[in-house]
Amino acid sequence: MQVHPPHVDPATRGAIALEHAHLAHNYDPLPVVIANGQGAWVTDIEGRRYLDFLAAYSALNFGHGHPALIEAASAQLGRLTLTSRAFSNDQLGPFAAALAELAGKELVLPMNTGAEAVETGIKVARAWAYRVKGVPQDAASIIVARGNFHGRTTTIVGFSDDPGAHDDFGPYGPGFVSVPFGDADALAAAITPDTAAVLIEPIQGEAGVLIPPEGYLRRVRELCTEHGVLFIADEIQTGLGRTGHTFACEREGVVPDLYLLGKALGGGIVPLSAVVGDAEVLGVIQPGQHGSTFGGNPLAAAIGVRVVQLLAAGTLQKRAQLLGTRLREGIEPLIGHGVTAVRVAGLWAGVDIDPRLGTGRHISEMLLARGLLVKDTHGQTIRLAPPLVIRSTDLDWALEQLHLVIEGEAARADSGQAPAHAVG
Ligand SMILES: *Cc1c(COP(=O)(O)O)cnc(C)c1O
Repeated sequence: MQVHPPHVDPATRGAIALEHAHLAHNYDPLPVVIANGQGAWVTDIEGRRYLDFLAAYSALNFGHGHPALIEAASAQLGRLTLTSRAFSNDQLGPFAAALAELAGKELVLPMNTGAEAVETGIKVARAWAYRVKGVPQDAASIIVARGNFHGRTTTIVGFSDDPGAHDDFGPYGPGFVSVPFGDADALAAAITPDTAAVLIEPIQGEAGVLIPPEGYLRRVRELCTEHGVLFIADEIQTGLGRTGHTFACEREGVVPDLYLLGKALGGGIVPLSAVVGDAEVLGVIQPGQHGSTFGGNPLAAAIGVRVVQLLAAGTLQKRAQLLGTRLREGIEPLIGHGVTAVRVAGLWAGVDIDPRLGTGRHISEMLLARGLLVKDTHGQTIRLAPPLVIRSTDLDWALEQLHLVIEGEAARADSGQAPAHAVG
């Protein structure tokens, strides 16, 4: 296969320059300009194909243009797209019923983005603390984990310890206590009578697919139950099939009080998020106390109900498990040969690149030139998260590219040469 950095082409250069000139620089995208997508593959504006191994951070679990989802969206598009919640619509009820059943819970509160689901979870936990638990007004606290990523709103970045996400956006809201991720004893020590909730990702995605020690989620569940504290699982990235389960909490057979869902819930077509829980918790929110103009709109609900149907069949979860084993077996041999550590959960992996090879960004650019789209996180880590519908032969092809790039760069580092710049 030819190795081709896309940015050398004039049309790509022009499109990137246009974005750079007119967009706030809150992202630093890899230099490829995508125009089409089908399944696990995308095509750039010059007709070159790439395998999408990021899948919009798991928002594209079902791949680009999934026929059932496109059909549901197209049919609804011509009928009705928005009513606001001032009125009922015929799509929202079926969506909520299906999602509640999938999660084994009673109620759904629909929003749009993941960060809104997190904000909703925080509001629900606080209202529950005052109205049900009896915590004194404005004293409720929520325990979060270090290394967390829960979104970009001002409340949420206030309890992030990633300087890029956090710094210079204060003053930060009070009411959050942070403990090391994966350390149940530290969590136990942080619980007080005023603790409303524990908010964690079952696996920390943005931090680099960090998997807590076996038994951690069970201890979190036990501690929350014992102390009358809500367990809020942010499954926005881990949920909906990615780890080989509908919810990553199932890895330890644990059920949280609230699921926060987003990303893949909208089928990669629309933003759709939700908080899912039982009436004794979610029921604390009364009319007028929370809402969103677009939350629960019929277009999103029509897509969401198809997403839930796809997951209820269970085949994608099985596929993620099966292909996940193949992914693990494909990348683990790289440990000690350009890779320092690998963490795999279902069809999801964090791969730590040996710093001698260069940064995760450098490796991402080398892979881009070979037609494989991945994205680095936190310097040395690349995260692998292809659509769950990926063909096994395509997965094997991706593993081949990873081996070629990482072994090639390891050999170069061994010979003392500086990294060649795949992308200038
Ligand atoms: C992406 C993500 C969010 C935020 O979702 P947005 O739709 O980008 O607001 C929150 N929590 C986790 C775990 C995520 O991965």
